[in-house]
Amino acid sequence: MALLEIKDVSVHYGRIQALHGISLTVNEGEIVTLIGANGAGKTTTMRALAGLLNLSSGSVMFEGEDISKLAGHKRVVRGISLTPEGRGIFPAMTVRENLEMGTYALKRRTPVDESFDKVFDLFPRLKEREAQAGGTLSGGEQQMLAIGRALMGQPKVLLLDEPSMGLAPQFIRQIFSIISQVNEQGITVLLVEQNANQALGRADRAYVLETGRITRTGSGAELLADPAVKEAYLGVA
Ligand code: ATP
Repeated sequence: MALLEIKDVSVHYGRIQALHGISLTVNEGEIVTLIGANGAGKTTTMRALAGLLNLSSGSVMFEGEDISKLAGHKRVVRGISLTPEGRGIFPAMTVRENLEMGTYALKRRTPVDESFDKVFDLFPRLKEREAQAGGTLSGGEQQMLAIGRALMGQPKVLLLDEPSMGLAPQFIRQIFSIISQVNEQGITVLLVEQNANQALGRADRAYVLETGRITRTGSGAELLADPAVKEAYLGVA
């Protein structure tokens, strides 16, 4: 059974249709990547999964149950966490306070100390900067903080929207290696990326989204080898 599934989902922003009946599945334990150009609808797909917008039609299923009408904060409690594009950290709050925000929806149902230990284990850099304001971190560190915050809720599935965006190459490598580590700890990952090469390299399966439609799907390796994907997303003809 799929852990997370989108079935025939359409989304409109006013009269603009951003998603045209897309379907995708994420199975437990997988890293699934969604690639696509600017404006293809990747962020819209993530927001639909996180419960941050209304579907025009179709459904979102989690653990076999229709959660299409479930509010975003309730999805966090169920085990779906989103690290949004652009990170959305709180610049004036300390690193520790930012991380604590990730447990807010859970009403302390998850042991917070255990979550801190796990996150600091994964990101020693955040431990060192625990008392520092979030806004003073480097871009790469802010991305770590955003991922750490999502992990504080001990999610079953982590939705990552363009985690490598705007980062220097050494941070990009680090972020992808952290994504693999998170997955090895048993967390299922859905990753949206423009950095298609690395993202497909780490993906069990992947989907290509073009102007609101899924146009290709396969294993990460299959899509990496696909000439059309190479030409459009990997910068090689
Ligand atoms: P990017 O990589 O540039 O962030 P994306 O693949 O994440 O792109 P979306 O942000 O999901 O794309 O946008 C899909 C389409 O919906 C685009 O054509 C975009 O202009 C449109 N869109 C997104 N948000 C809104 C909004 N709030 N109002 C109107 N149109 C929107």
